[in-house]
Amino acid sequence: MIHPDTELRFVSPEIGHGVFATRRIPKGTITWGLCHLDHVLSPARRLELPPCYAGVISAFAYLTAQGDAVLCWDIGRYVNHSCSPSSLSLNDELDIAVRDILPGEQLTDDYGMLNLPHVLQCRCGAPGCRREVRADDHLRMGAEWEVQVREAFALASRVPQPVLPYLKNASQLLDMLEGRADVPSPLAYCVPPAAGVGPAPA
Ligand SMILES: [Zn+2]
Repeated sequence: MIHPDTELRFVSPEIGHGVFATRRIPKGTITWGLCHLDHVLSPARRLELPPCYAGVISAFAYLTAQGDAVLCWDIGRYVNHSCSPSSLSLNDELDIAVRDILPGEQLTDDYGMLNLPHVLQCRCGAPGCRREVRADDHLRMGAEWEVQVREAFALASRVPQPVLPYLKNASQLLDMLEGRADVPSPLAYCVPPAAGVGPAPA
């Protein structure tokens, strides 16, 4: 479930659509979380699907460390990558705003956290763009991501969390918010490409 204060807008013919804030979303807010309506497709389930689905899944789903493909049911599937993103993955079911997101600003993630099955050529235009986004980016970026996520999560209990009631695993977030569970390291949910999750794109 994407944060309710968002809308889909066309960005450009090259990029397609993106998700934009309609109101200020403060740092520390969960901007997307796995909900009961999202599709979680195991590798076996993906093999059962007609081959024509491969392109849809490659374009719109992300992979968990277990190799499941998660296809968001709502506009969450249009969140684009940036090498300087507004949100980062808190784990493989939650994204958190790592800075204040202003009205009209595009919500972005770092796809390097999403176990990409292939190298993504990046033209995001952000300062420090990595040019290539890879499944093993966490080996180089993990420490920086972890600092950003921890700083953002330190604010999470003080800002509205409208996505929380929709979460498939709300207790997981509540345990973190109430100090019963630690915020995981990106190394816990990012896997190197050698682990072989997901097929290469067609
Ligand atoms: Zn980039």
